[in-house]
Amino acid sequence: MPHVVTQACCGDASCVFACPVNAIHPNPHDPDFALAEMLYIDPVACVDCGACVEACPVAAIAPENKLGPAQLPFVQINALFHQDPPARPAQAPVPPIVRIDTTRTRTPLRVAVVGSGPAALYAADELLKQPDVHVNVFERLPVPYGLVRSGVAPDHPETKTIARLFRDIEDRPGFHYVLGVDVGRDLSHAELMAHHHAVIYATGASQDRRLGIVGEDLPGSTTATEFVAWYNGHPDHAGRSYDLSHERAVIVGNGNVALDVARILATDPEDLAGTDISDRALSVLRQSRVREVVVLARRGPAQMAGTLPELTGLLGRPDLDVVVDGPVPTLTSDVDLVTAQKLAALRALPTADRPRDVRRRIVLRYLTSPLSVDGTDRVTGVHVVRNELVRDVDGGVRAVPTQITDTIATGLLLRSIGYRGRPVTDMPFDDRAGILPNDAGRIDGRPGAYAVGWIKRGPTGFIGTNKSCARETVNQLLADVNAGRLADPLSDQRSLAELVGQRCPDAGDVVAWRRIDDLERARGQASGRPRVKYTDIQELRAALANASPPRAGRRLVRRG
Ligand code: NAP
Repeated sequence: MPHVVTQACCGDASCVFACPVNAIHPNPHDPDFALAEMLYIDPVACVDCGACVEACPVAAIAPENKLGPAQLPFVQINALFHQDPPARPAQAPVPPIVRIDTTRTRTPLRVAVVGSGPAALYAADELLKQPDVHVNVFERLPVPYGLVRSGVAPDHPETKTIARLFRDIEDRPGFHYVLGVDVGRDLSHAELMAHHHAVIYATGASQDRRLGIVGEDLPGSTTATEFVAWYNGHPDHAGRSYDLSHERAVIVGNGNVALDVARILATDPEDLAGTDISDRALSVLRQSRVREVVVLARRGPAQMAGTLPELTGLLGRPDLDVVVDGPVPTLTSDVDLVTAQKLAALRALPTADRPRDVRRRIVLRYLTSPLSVDGTDRVTGVHVVRNELVRDVDGGVRAVPTQITDTIATGLLLRSIGYRGRPVTDMPFDDRAGILPNDAGRIDGRPGAYAVGWIKRGPTGFIGTNKSCARETVNQLLADVNAGRLADPLSDQRSLAELVGQRCPDAGDVVAWRRIDDLERARGQASGRPRVKYTDIQELRAALANASPPRAGRRLVRRG
C-alpha cells in the first residue's frame, strides 16, 4: 500500500533522505524544489517501508489505506506529480555540508542565534551536527518557537508536531536558550559579537504590509498578522478585542494566511474548543455573528497564492460552504500541473449566487481590489473595483482596475497581503524587500553576522523551507570559520552568563521552557486540549520565575 504526503507537508525533505528508493520528489537538488507547494510520493516506486513516516516531522505521511475522507484527494495529487516526471537522478544526492576544519579552528565555536522560530532552530541543528559547537538561542519572549507557536492555525495540530523535532534539537549537547532577552534592547550586537564567533539573525517578518487606501486605519480594519497572533495567544496581541457582531468579514489577499483566517472565522467555535486557541479568542468567537467570510483576490484563480494542499484541506471540510465568485478559467495545455489541479477544484465549486444553507460560508472572490474602506467611526463596508488581467512582456500577470465598482457591507476588514521584516538594530536594512541585505546568508558589510529564514529571504515558503535555508547560511558561516575570517570572541560563556544575569535576571533557559510547557499541557489536560497557553507576559514571567532555578545565566555556564 503506497504512502501518501498530505496537507501538513512542511517541505523540509527529511522524508526524501529517509526514503531508500528515491520515491519522494522534488528533492532539494531538483530545480523545482524551491517553489514546490509540497512533496509527493511516487505510488509506483514506493515500497511501503514507512521510513518516511518516521522521518516526517509533522505527521503528514500515511499509508493510503489509513487516510480519512478529507485526505483522499492527496492520493491523486501525489500520483499525478509522478505521472510524467522529468529525468531525475537515480539516487537523491546528499546536499553538501561544510565541515569545520578542526585542525585550523580554535574550538569550541560559539554562535548566537537571535530568534527561536523554525529558521533559528534549523540553523542551531545544522551547527550542532558539527563537533564542539555551542549555540546560544536568544528569544525576546519567555517562550520559544516563533510562528509555530503564534502563527500556525490552532486547527492544524499536525503542523505543530514539528515541536518534537525542536525538542530533539534542544537536547543536543551545546544547545542553550536565553529566553526573555531582547537583542537590540537588552544586549547589543557588539556585545553578542564579543561573546561569540558569529551571530545569526532569525528574527522573521513580523510586520504587516499596508494597502495605502482611505479608511485603512478605521476601527474594524486590521491585519491578519495581528488577528492570527491574537487567536494564537501571542502576548503582544492576546489582550486585543475584535468586534465580530457583523454577519460578514472581508479578507484582502488569498494566500495561506488568508485561508487560515477565513477558516478560523468560519469554524464552529465548539470545534476549536479542543485546540490550543487562546481562551480569550475562543470566548470572542463564541459570541461571533459572522456567517460569511469573503476572501478577496486581486488576480484570478490561476494566480491563487494559497497552495494546493491548503485549498484541498479547505474544500474537504464538510461543515463549510465554500463558493466561488468570479470566472474560473477553463484548462489549457500551458497551465502547470498544480495550477491545473487548483482550477479543477475551483471549477467544481458552487457559485456565490446559489442559495445559502445553514453552514457558514467562505466566498472566494476573484479579480477584486479594495479602493477604500467605508465608515466614519468604524468600518461599515469596503468599496471595491473589478479588475481584469494583463500579461506583461516578462510573462507576469497583473491586475488592472476596470470602471466597475461595488460596495461589500462588512464590520471587519482584515488585510492579509504578506508580512514584512522589521529592521534589526545595528544591521543594514533593505527597506523595499523588508530583509537584512545578504548574500546567501552573509549580511552585507557585517563580518560575522548572518541571516536565516524570512528576515533573509522574505516571507515565503513553509516551515521546512527553513531547513535548506539554514543549511545555506550555516555553510557560509562554516566556510568563514575554515578560512579564518571569524575572530575569536573576546569574552567567554561565563562572562556572557553574568551579563545576561545583570541585564535580565528573569531570563529563562530550556529547563524553564520545559516547565512552562508542562504547566500549559497540564492546564489543557483537564479540558482535553493539547495545552492552554499563557498569553500574558506578566503571567508568563511569573510562571518562569516559579519554574526553576537554575536560570539562564547559571545554566549557560553549567552546560557550556
Ligand atoms: P502570500 O502567500 O504572499 O499571499 C499574499 C496575498 O496578498 C496574495 O494573494 C497577493 O496577491 C495579495 N496581495 C499583495 N499585495 C496586495 C495588494 N496591494 N492588494 C491586494 N492583494 C494583495 O502571503 P501569506 O498568505 O501572508 O503567506 C506567507 C507565507 O507563509 C507563504 O509562503 C505561505 O504559503 C506561508 N504559509 C503557509 C501556511 C501553510 O502551509 N499552512 C500557512 C500560512 C502561511 P498577488 O498574488 O496578486 O500578489
